[in-house]
Amino acid sequence: MSEEFMSVIRRPARKTANETATNEAATNGAATDGAAESPSPGRPVMAIPAPTQKKIRLMDLRPDQIIALMGMLNEKTYRGAQLNHWLFNRGVRTFDEMTDISKKSRDYLGETVTPESTLRLEKDEAEPYGARRFLWRLEDDLFVESVLIRQTGHLTLCVSSQVGCRMGCRFCRTGTLGFTRNLTQGEIVEQLICARKIVPKKDMKITNVVFMGMGEPFDNAENVTNAFQIMVSPQYQAIPRRGVTISTVGMTEELKRFAEDPTLRCRLTVSLGAANDELRSELMPSNLKWPLDKIKRTIAAYQKLPSNTSSSWMTFAYVLLGGVNDSPKHAKELSRFMTGIKSKVNLIPFNPWPGAPFDRPSPQAIEAFRGVLVDKNHTAMIRETKGASINAACGLLVANQLDQAKPPEGPLGASL
Ligand code: SF4
Repeated sequence: MSEEFMSVIRRPARKTANETATNEAATNGAATDGAAESPSPGRPVMAIPAPTQKKIRLMDLRPDQIIALMGMLNEKTYRGAQLNHWLFNRGVRTFDEMTDISKKSRDYLGETVTPESTLRLEKDEAEPYGARRFLWRLEDDLFVESVLIRQTGHLTLCVSSQVGCRMGCRFCRTGTLGFTRNLTQGEIVEQLICARKIVPKKDMKITNVVFMGMGEPFDNAENVTNAFQIMVSPQYQAIPRRGVTISTVGMTEELKRFAEDPTLRCRLTVSLGAANDELRSELMPSNLKWPLDKIKRTIAAYQKLPSNTSSSWMTFAYVLLGGVNDSPKHAKELSRFMTGIKSKVNLIPFNPWPGAPFDRPSPQAIEAFRGVLVDKNHTAMIRETKGASINAACGLLVANQLDQAKPPEGPLGASL
């Protein structure tokens, strides 16, 4: 989206007799001036989209691209910063409200781009333990969801990164929906901005964000990276870096990039499902591409880097499926996998939905599993209640929405 956008931005315009023809040429890519070029009077500001062409959403541009855009309108850099503030900090979605930007520039901008929101709230459902589940309708009438979780002293928002998911984890309801498309940068950031607008001012603040909703975040790495940068920027959403958790099936290339790049520092969680390759591949087909050994080597390598100290601790998520991966033998396998890595594990008892292919483990099995890990000096926590709302039911609202449109074709899963 962003490069496509910059390719239609042209040098600053002046109303001329042949403006229409020039703009058409620019729209078709005839002009090739770069985005960072200095303004040149007498040439078009930017390509005016054809009547049928959709305006480009500013929320899908990076802040630096928006500053470049304002520069091309002969606006000073701080004006671009003001526009970014309106968009990414205040969440303002009409140009009329951006009163410190000149009317002329707003008019120019309005011809080509829009600050409008990409999300419409379709449902706001109460969940157990004070959680709320938001169903968002996207511009193309697809749906994604976010879950707001009440924790001691603060709120955590679980966001989606894709419509559906191509990883196909068998215990995940989203996984059974298949993959439709990546969310844009704007659609990801908007989940946070819109949720913050919904939460009453007197209520607790959203201080944490977890990428554990629909989708595999690292399968949409560019948009997730850009959204993450806006979320943690002190100028915009100001979520503390350590307040952001990205959960992955273990896509090692992106795991390494996030772990090693200080500008992407955050908490990382790898979903395991099982600690032997045969069972993990059955439960999580992604294991065929990113098997356990590869994941372990990637984590061990970056934990050895001198720049990585306590911040490099890894969290594992392990969904306990009754009679499938919840025996003491499986716990010993998990212990072996964790040995040598600075890590802890969240054990998540599966919460079945009607037609789910797995059962919830018994309380005795859960305790015995944890006991094996604790005896071997691992940090193992059982994540129930509030965690269950996000970790075992992602995709539920979307699936229900789809169910209303057509009969279910088979059991749907629960997400990590
Ligand atoms: S658990 Fe996550 S990665 Fe796996 S299918 Fe569900 S949404 Fe995708």
